Amino acid sequence: MNVAVVGTGYVGLVGGVCMADMGHQVVCVDIDEAKVRTLQAGKTPIYEPGLEELLEKTIEANAISFTTSLSEAVKGAEVVFLALPTPPGENGAADLSYILKVAEDLGPLVDHYMVIVDKSTVPVGTAQMVREKIAAQAQADFDVVSNPEFLREGHAVHDFMQPDRVVIGGSSERAVQSLRELYRPIAHEGQIIVMDEASAELTKYAANSFLATKVTFMNEIANLADLLGANVEAVRLGIGSDDRIGSKFLQAGIGYGGSCFPKDVQALLNTASSAGYEFKTLQAIMDVNARQKQRLIEMAEKHFGDLRGKRIALWGLAFKPDTDDIREAPALEIIHGLLEKGATVVGYDPEAEANTERAFAGKAGVTFEEDMYQAVSGADALFIATEWNVFEAADLARLKAALAQPVVFDGRNIFEPSDMARAGFEYFSIGRPVGAAEPKKV
Ligand code: NAD
Repeated sequence: MNVAVVGTGYVGLVGGVCMADMGHQVVCVDIDEAKVRTLQAGKTPIYEPGLEELLEKTIEANAISFTTSLSEAVKGAEVVFLALPTPPGENGAADLSYILKVAEDLGPLVDHYMVIVDKSTVPVGTAQMVREKIAAQAQADFDVVSNPEFLREGHAVHDFMQPDRVVIGGSSERAVQSLRELYRPIAHEGQIIVMDEASAELTKYAANSFLATKVTFMNEIANLADLLGANVEAVRLGIGSDDRIGSKFLQAGIGYGGSCFPKDVQALLNTASSAGYEFKTLQAIMDVNARQKQRLIEMAEKHFGDLRGKRIALWGLAFKPDTDDIREAPALEIIHGLLEKGATVVGYDPEAEANTERAFAGKAGVTFEEDMYQAVSGADALFIATEWNVFEAADLARLKAALAQPVVFDGRNIFEPSDMARAGFEYFSIGRPVGAAEPKKV
């Protein structure tokens, strides 16, 4: 099929490249000229495992091309995906200006039947708004459907190619058939869930808010475990083996970040209050998550008494491993918090350093190193904010030798407390007693 993808960010680029690999003819369009030039040269502007190889392969096969011209992209397109940003706007409601602007620009270009697909995460009612914008200038028939994306950064190619489900919201049989044909190479029998538009739009917010709830609930259990001398890892195993609960998303830590959970929980809360409903759990999730991002600083203050003049190494800047995305990353708040307390920070991340350095350009007290051991050299303590594999595989003797004081505050529970105690560290983690042995299944 001929496919156009508008917006080549994490979702649009991954989706575009994957659809090209599936055998479709794809044209991606973005207003960012530098990004388009980079992509035309076969390079990805973002870090996402496996993406660059697939990009090179699909360019080589002439299955994908990149342009800054919307009219060029949609010429002959049967399906047009909108993968545009929906950042938090006023009162936390999703800012729909990117989507609606493209819908307006798209109107006069609709000169043959096409299916326009909302891939972005958008509130209930958006597909109808897009439809109205396009209808004002369209010269041919078209349909708008909602098809929210559930990929995870860091696993985006895998998730797009092997989805748990594909949600399609729309009442036009013709449009639904087009999408079924488009997804046929990857969606197995029964994996496509067709529903009404409003339910599809709400499904995406419900999914992200539910996952944020699960994470946050475990973070509160961890905080309570700290007070009671229990081990959250043991509790996680204990409850995660219950099928009704499931073992995923139960890892305690320093809160969720990224470009999706924070904005989507906020946007759903806003949708609820606009509908006259007080969604109490969502407000609590947001409050608890904001508090959890301060957890390592609270622990360090308790340990040191005063953080003034302390040199803190920070491993992990991305909001999660295997991405260079720092949007709403807990590490950013930790840096701000430490600087406010009079500490200095030396940051390291395998992929997100350049983005973080740009975000803190000109800010005194924070520097970055390109080597993880160089970052800890002479530091009074190490904070860990992202669970990259390279940190888990750290050489503990080398780490201890590099630190001025062998103190580690681990916000992602990547080491065993008993191992760290044996290695001579003062080691503090989330919801696990100092020196605790690993819970085991026998
Ligand atoms: P992004 O910011 O990485 O990418 C958006 C792209 O759109 C950018 O490259 C930008 O230059 C481009 N753009 C902006 N205006 C444009 C215009 N007028 N014409 C063409 N291109 C334009 O965003 P993202 O992370 O890919 O997210 C896109 C949507 O998908 C959001 O609604 C997000 O909530 C949702 N989503 C994101 C993820 C994720 O993991 N990032 C997962 C599922 C859903």
